[in-house]
Amino acid sequence: MVTNAPSSALTGVAFITGAGSGIGAATARAFAAKGVRRFVLVDLVPAGLKAIDTELQAGGAQTAVIAADVSKEDDVKGAVAAAVQTFGRIDYAVNSAGVGALGAFLETPTEEVREQTAQMLKQDPLAGWVRRRGRTDASDSADPKRQQRGSIVNLSSVLGTVAVPGVPAYVASKHAVVGLAKAAAVEHAGRGVRTNNIAPGWIDTPMTNNEHVAAVLEAQTAPGKTPAGRAGTAEEVADVAVFLSSTEASFVNGATWIVDGGFTAL
Ligand code: ADP
Repeated sequence: MVTNAPSSALTGVAFITGAGSGIGAATARAFAAKGVRRFVLVDLVPAGLKAIDTELQAGGAQTAVIAADVSKEDDVKGAVAAAVQTFGRIDYAVNSAGVGALGAFLETPTEEVREQTAQMLKQDPLAGWVRRRGRTDASDSADPKRQQRGSIVNLSSVLGTVAVPGVPAYVASKHAVVGLAKAAAVEHAGRGVRTNNIAPGWIDTPMTNNEHVAAVLEAQTAPGKTPAGRAGTAEEVADVAVFLSSTEASFVNGATWIVDGGFTAL
């Protein structure tokens, strides 16, 4: 007989990129609410990092704060090495750092598509590390079938599953993120590491508060385009990131979890 695991606390080490703002910061808070007490917080911008670090420490968490540019492979490797040095393990990786470039298809140089895709994919060394060094944490689940060595969640986008005009490099790079996670999922499943994507629609964060981005994305939330009739919040994405990281999602692997208020269903 299969029984539902009780809603369990999370006990491992969370490694979050883009932790200084928006979805990344909300994800750190959501992990803390689920019981996580060890965090590796990575972002390009130190100011946002400091704010979330202070908040988590006030809640009793231990943190390693790393200013790094995840578009540079050496920075990613350095961040992972620092995480390992501090905590000896990474259990839940959430790759939330991201940027978007705008421009019509015919005006977008191939090089930009290539560069943005390369940037989105640079976080892959994480997969290698979680695979080699993650450990089964028996306290995660009493059911041996549901134990895991690690979970990776990549923030893709609904534009990793469909396209809208005006953001070709972003669309291409987010599709690449979806593909890479599937490849990681099938290769690492046997080692107890799951890899999934979240595909958010228009979420109200500093990134979409930019007037140029908003102009492009307006098409998504115009009445009738997003059935929810509003933008999502960073917390609504963060809750899914925590679910996908938990053993409650133990049979979810290589999936792209759409969090878009119904946009792609319409
Ligand atoms: P969202 O949460 O919607 O992705 P935000 O702009 O609020 O949008 O958050 C993105 C975070 O990712 C920011 O804190 C930003 O500093 C960070 N970030 C962007 N590019 C990089 C990068 N190359 N390396 C590390 N962090 C980055």
